[in-house]
Amino acid sequence: MGGAQDWNSSGAAGRDSIAAVGESYQKFNPRAYLQNNYMPPRANFSSEDCVVPWKLRCLADAFATGDIYGRTLIDVGSGPTIYQLLSACDHFEEIIATDYLEVNREVLRRWVQDEPDSFDWSPYIKYVCRIEGKGEQWKEKEQKLRRKLRQILSIDVHQPEPLGSQLRQPADALVSTFCLEAVSPDRPSFERALHNVTTLLQPGGHFLLIGALQETFYLAGEAKLSVVPVSEADVREALSKSGYHIHDFRTYLMPPSLKIGVDDVSGVFFVHAQKAVV
Ligand code: SAM
Repeated sequence: MGGAQDWNSSGAAGRDSIAAVGESYQKFNPRAYLQNNYMPPRANFSSEDCVVPWKLRCLADAFATGDIYGRTLIDVGSGPTIYQLLSACDHFEEIIATDYLEVNREVLRRWVQDEPDSFDWSPYIKYVCRIEGKGEQWKEKEQKLRRKLRQILSIDVHQPEPLGSQLRQPADALVSTFCLEAVSPDRPSFERALHNVTTLLQPGGHFLLIGALQETFYLAGEAKLSVVPVSEADVREALSKSGYHIHDFRTYLMPPSLKIGVDDVSGVFFVHAQKAVV
């Protein structure tokens, strides 16, 4: 469990491989990434069996429990996407998006400012309004998220304090989607990154974590990013070592029709976990 773990033992080789991951992200192309993952066929809203509706359903169900609320929610490694925040925005006063890359932070800023060349998230917002079933108009939700997304910060999950001095107080909840395994060269660094981001969360806070199962790479334009392959057991073990209690764990098997050559993902996991109160 958490107490026996040596969280500071990455060593020189570990630091080199983390630096290599950072280098590989310099070619990350947000537009290509959005095209690969957030357009049809993966974003097909006519079927709940498709991966994007599945993710949105997991998040909507978690917030519908009524257990996850507070002042601040931090999204770790937001990338150029906001879908992961749509169900959260009713339950927090302020949402903080974060990413390692300035190009991704700029994409998010432009969406918040409603710049004309922004990615069209409207099918996502409409779908989430529909499955939440609260009768909310999609434009209202869009405005609400833009209003609550007040800070877009730089982050490095490999640092013991991922937000450094930018963190004013630990968050009431965390969301992170497809980040930790996609930026970690191996399992120990994945576990350490999870430990590091856990410092952003107050004791008793909730963590909604979504990620890739048994993936070794994904593409984002010219960038080919390495991913540490993780299983459900690996994710459970990492969460337990960082002192979480798991409330819900769901897995999605990627169907052959969605294996489109942009990655080699086998499936997707969703976890609703809660940090120990100590
Ligand atoms: N959350 C988005 C999603 O659901 O599609 C983006 C996930 S993308 C696979 C991984 C993200 O991790 C990228 O946006 C990348 O810039 C970011 N990243 C890379 N290195 C990182 C680091 N050291 N710390 C935090 N985020 C990092």
